[in-house]
Amino acid sequence: MGTGILTIDTKAVVHNWQSLNKLSDAKTGAVIKANAYGLGAKQISRELVKVGVDTFFVALADEAILLRNAIGPKPIIYVLSGHNEGETDKLISSNSRPVLNSLEQLRRHQPLLNILEFAIQIDTGMNRLGIKGYDWDLNMSSGADFIMSHLACADEPLTEMNEQQLTLFKKMTFGAKVPLSLAATGGILLDRKYHFDIVRPGIGIYGCSPYKQGRNVVSLDLPVIQVNRIEKGEAVGYGKSFIAKQDMKIATIALGYADGVFRSTTNKAVVFFEDIPCKLVGRISMDMITVDVSHLKSIPKYVNFIGSQQTVDQLAKVSGTIGYEILTSLGSRYKRIYK
Ligand SMILES: *Cc1c(COP(=O)(O)O)cnc(C)c1O
Repeated sequence: MGTGILTIDTKAVVHNWQSLNKLSDAKTGAVIKANAYGLGAKQISRELVKVGVDTFFVALADEAILLRNAIGPKPIIYVLSGHNEGETDKLISSNSRPVLNSLEQLRRHQPLLNILEFAIQIDTGMNRLGIKGYDWDLNMSSGADFIMSHLACADEPLTEMNEQQLTLFKKMTFGAKVPLSLAATGGILLDRKYHFDIVRPGIGIYGCSPYKQGRNVVSLDLPVIQVNRIEKGEAVGYGKSFIAKQDMKIATIALGYADGVFRSTTNKAVVFFEDIPCKLVGRISMDMITVDVSHLKSIPKYVNFIGSQQTVDQLAKVSGTIGYEILTSLGSRYKRIYK
């Protein structure tokens, strides 16, 4: 069976990072947790290093180890989940710096203060990670690279939550002698007052919402593996969920839920042959989808599922999810091409 071709445009990633970098006077890092949002931390981080990115954020110590191997000793790597039990050796061997998120992590890091630098996260209302106001003392930031917090609603410019978090962040860091960091992609786009000293874009560099100006990074082309002529009244796929209302041509395409396409996408997404959309019909199987190609003059070898005509964000919308989830669900079976 043929396999899909996932093309990842690292030049677009670099372009998106550079444009986001221009939006603030702050230092711009790059968040490449979860294997660069599923797109390949190794390949992407190397391209970013070439254009001067020297500060990376990953979620886990294990990700830091992989990243360190990819980019060499120089760039700084921060581990957003902090210094967790049993991970000291991983942090040391990868020379990565934890973002300390709790008093427990602060204590755990004490013996390493002279060995591994650290940042510190405070909670300003998201209640996920970070030291809460009732535990916080500005002295805890002594020796830290920076103090950061994370916005819960940065992609909703109109909510009051952003202002509230900003106010609390300023209050909790008042008098701080170290740099400050509050904004991810959404925060960069909100307003300059959210930028502070370091910004941490992730999704924007991969070309997705809320960075609508971003260049498309991902394109997914899928081979047509069979074409069937069916008559009015015949069914297609599991559960006979699609019944032909007239004679049709149905193409079977190598893409299934095992490749990360959600079953909820059935009947909503399309594939494109050149600029002609073709509807998905019937249920999505583990390795295959079926598509109505009755209106095509010739049968294509490949159709496009993600690209400029059906972007990650558009696919997310019809699938009832967000670009982050589409990207991180992209399957491991595709042939990946980096250009
Ligand atoms: C994931 C993450 C980011 C990046 O967020 P995007 O919305 O992808 O730009 C930044 N900071 C923290 C703490 C994160 O967890």
